[in-house]
Amino acid sequence: MNRIRDKLGRFKRIYLDTKKHKIELSKIYYENHKEHCKENTRKRRLRILEKVRKLIGDKCILCGETKKLYYHEIYNKKHPCGIDYIYRHYKDFIPLCLKCHTTIHWILIKNIDMDILRTYVEISHGENKHEVR
Ligand SMILES: [Zn+2]
Ligand SMILES: [Zn+2]
Repeated sequence: MNRIRDKLGRFKRIYLDTKKHKIELSKIYYENHKEHCKENTRKRRLRILEKVRKLIGDKCILCGETKKLYYHEIYNKKHPCGIDYIYRHYKDFIPLCLKCHTTIHWILIKNIDMDILRTYVEISHGENKHEVR
């Protein structure tokens, strides 16, 4: 009876040790895995962004600016902000720089004619050039 109890006790200890060890191992694995996943997601997003740039363009369609680009949804649909959605619905999006994007939204809110937008953009960018000089 005692021998069985001893064996059982030893087994229990080994079992608990292994269990503890396994939990630690899985924590380490999770940490590594997390970093790995993050990196993969980042790379995947960049790849999709590259595709989106080729499909939609990498310049603001109103002024030609290439920095700080936004993809603006032209049908006024509610949509998620992720690059995956833009890629899947790329025909619904146009590239706009920060300034033109802000202007477009301002015009949408005010319900102003789109021709006025172009004039506004030309004037405001002209003013900017003037400031630089
Ligand atoms: Zn927009
Ligand atoms: Zn622009």
